[in-house]
Amino acid sequence: AHLDRIAAVDDRVHAFLHVDTEGALAAARDVDARRAAGEPLGPLAGVPVAVKDVLTTKGVPTTAGSKILENWRPPYDSTIVSRLRAAGTVPIGKTNMDEFAMGSSTEYSAYGPTNNPWDLTRIPGGSGGGSAAALAAYEAPLAIGSDTGGSIRQPGAVTGTVGAKPTYGGTSRYGLIAFSSSLDTPGPCARTVEDAALLHAVIGGHDPRDSTSIPQPVPDVVAAARLGANGDLTGVRLGIVTEFSGEGAEPGVLAAFRDSVETLTKLGAEVVEVSCPNFQYALPAYYLIAPSECSSNLARFDGVRFGLRVGDDGVKSLEEVMSLTRDQGFGPEVKRRIMLGTYALSSGYYDAYYGQAQKVRTLITRDFTAAFEQVDVLISPTTPFVAFPFGSRTGDPYQMYLADLFTIPTNLYGGPAISVPCGLSEGLPVGLQIMAPTMADDRMYRVAAALE
Ligand code: GLN
Repeated sequence: AHLDRIAAVDDRVHAFLHVDTEGALAAARDVDARRAAGEPLGPLAGVPVAVKDVLTTKGVPTTAGSKILENWRPPYDSTIVSRLRAAGTVPIGKTNMDEFAMGSSTEYSAYGPTNNPWDLTRIPGGSGGGSAAALAAYEAPLAIGSDTGGSIRQPGAVTGTVGAKPTYGGTSRYGLIAFSSSLDTPGPCARTVEDAALLHAVIGGHDPRDSTSIPQPVPDVVAAARLGANGDLTGVRLGIVTEFSGEGAEPGVLAAFRDSVETLTKLGAEVVEVSCPNFQYALPAYYLIAPSECSSNLARFDGVRFGLRVGDDGVKSLEEVMSLTRDQGFGPEVKRRIMLGTYALSSGYYDAYYGQAQKVRTLITRDFTAAFEQVDVLISPTTPFVAFPFGSRTGDPYQMYLADLFTIPTNLYGGPAISVPCGLSEGLPVGLQIMAPTMADDRMYRVAAALE
């Protein structure tokens, strides 16, 4: 049914870069066989899932939205995808994204943008706009995303779906094509909070193949989502981030947020304001740290090891092959980030830029730690604005970067956060973000489910 739905609508939505029809049917038959053999299967057995094209899938094209990986078929599955298969879910295809997950609209995909199912002339968010749009257009009931600065939550917010960024290290990065290794976090996308929790439970947990994976079990996010669904938040303390509830967001977004705060209060939650004064420096710190790490990570795309190779004929040197391949293989936003990062890391500038950004990162972490001494979770709008029209923010990189103003602090800290639909502004979805302490992912699911 989902493959039929994709065939019917994806020429308009363009959520998928690759639909793995044969692989999906084979996986579905395999689940049937396992069930017939009496193998105990989990609650998601047989359920289709769309996978962001940043995660490797054995033998199935994986491009990370870049020309430099066109036609590359990885020789191995990422841990996330292995776990999806082990749980009996059915990976149905790879979803569109901004090139190497750098962007907030999918307009930086080398394969053309994804259209928001709510209004096809608007962006579906990014970088994981394909995964979010696939859910909103009912092309898949579940999807996987990755969140470095907001790429799960922001697409969730602008498509009226649920997107959760787990605690950093709570989901494996093995086989996740690296953008910024100290921030990258794969996570679940779904249409309901409970579905997201079920998917989170399947993909999460320690992985010895990822050196930053946390050697602890995932908190019981499914039980937390079910507890929250009873709508009682008595005794739960919510902190509204002062810095993110005043200016900086569209009035319609703030109105929907305030209405939701009122609802949360009616459900029994105690709501207070909490100031996190260093959050205002999160965006600049992120745009030094993330490009710095990306400039190092993307050095591996050299025309030799993976994908595209330009200039075999008549080329004079290896250096020329590398330079031509990178020139033609990377898009403008990726080049901008590599240049920014290389500059920030260069000797003489390192202390002033990268070193300074790391200090700011520590201050932001301290803001979170102090806040969580007063409240159980922090809340804010997920994004400052609703889905914007194509082309309206591509002219000025800073305008695009602002899309993640409210989501980035969490990545710098490493905690979990979820975006849950909280109303409409001008007929378009608005998301509410719930941020929790590291390894307290269950708390955010409880509050999100109560609001749903
Ligand atoms: N939009 C942010 C960026 O461009 C975040 C992307 C992400 O989370 N992958 O870096």
